Amino acid sequence: RAKSAGGNRAELADPEADARAITRHGLTTALPTALERGEFFIEYQPLVHLGDGSVRGAEALVRWLHPQHGVLGPDRFIPLAEHTGLIVPLGRWVLEESIRQARAWRERHGGQAGPLRINVNLSPCQLGHPGLVQDTVDILERAGVTPDALCLEVTESALIGADDDLLKPLRRLAEMGVDIALDDFGTGYSNLANLRRLPVSILKLDRSFTQGMQRFPADPVDLKIVEGIVSLAHSLDLAVTVEGVETGAQAEQLRILGCDTAQGWYYARPGPPERLHDLTLVDSTG
Ligand code: C2E
Ligand code: MG
Ligand code: MG
Ligand code: MG
Repeated sequence: RAKSAGGNRAELADPEADARAITRHGLTTALPTALERGEFFIEYQPLVHLGDGSVRGAEALVRWLHPQHGVLGPDRFIPLAEHTGLIVPLGRWVLEESIRQARAWRERHGGQAGPLRINVNLSPCQLGHPGLVQDTVDILERAGVTPDALCLEVTESALIGADDDLLKPLRRLAEMGVDIALDDFGTGYSNLANLRRLPVSILKLDRSFTQGMQRFPADPVDLKIVEGIVSLAHSLDLAVTVEGVETGAQAEQLRILGCDTAQGWYYARPGPPERLHDLTLVDSTG
């Protein structure tokens, strides 16, 4: 029996891998039309100040409403878009759409440079694209939004060993007043001293650190590591945001450790932009 099963498997040549490859191929070829047809949409997840619990902004997270497969998360298609170069127009669309949303939020705050800022993820391909700075300037100007309403998130791994050519556009944006956050911090192997070279003003501690805090009592070594990162970040004038906060106990622990801002399911899952109206209203009245 074992022999015939083995034979069968060889004949079928891993049907699941085939299906995955077909889907990958299908998704890749469908990407450009998906952008034209408006199948992408953005969910927003609030960023909460740990000191006073107020909502300070939101991260824009792109999704694809695929006509056959339903809603696909970015992990399914961002790598494909990066591979084909579609990430550049897609990323531009995400930026434009979320800046438009930031403007709508600001208008709710009497048109002032209200507290709500928008965080947008930038992939390494976008960083290397020569149009990045001008596109960003144009999008902000068209929407009538000041650069301080925008924070661009770049992963630590994208900036490890980045040469000056790659950092130049980020520096220009930072000089204009756009905040740059180092996303998924702690997952790469960047030299901490290297941080001084990067035009970043925010560290986003990766979810893996927060996960370590779910156990109670939390591993004292985990706590020491986070404490060390926070104090290093603060001594370099960097603010610390933590991602993946799922419980109140974690939030309290991270607040005690000195983290500035938090994001996670404990506060809200990513959702439609209207949800941010409610959260903000609740916060400003309470
Ligand atoms: P990220 O930038 O690190 O975003 C945080 C991810 O953690 C999001 O996953 C979010 O939904 C998830 N998350 C938030 N809170 C919690 C929590 O409490 N628990 C858990 N388990 N997860 C939480 P998502 O939306 O699937 O996005 C995955 C990644 O895709 C993002 O990671 C980002 O790197 C990338 N991405 C998303 N949107 C864009 C985009 O517009 N452009 C580019 N280039 N990348 C994007
Ligand atoms: Mg991010
Ligand atoms: Mg992140
Ligand atoms: Mg992450």
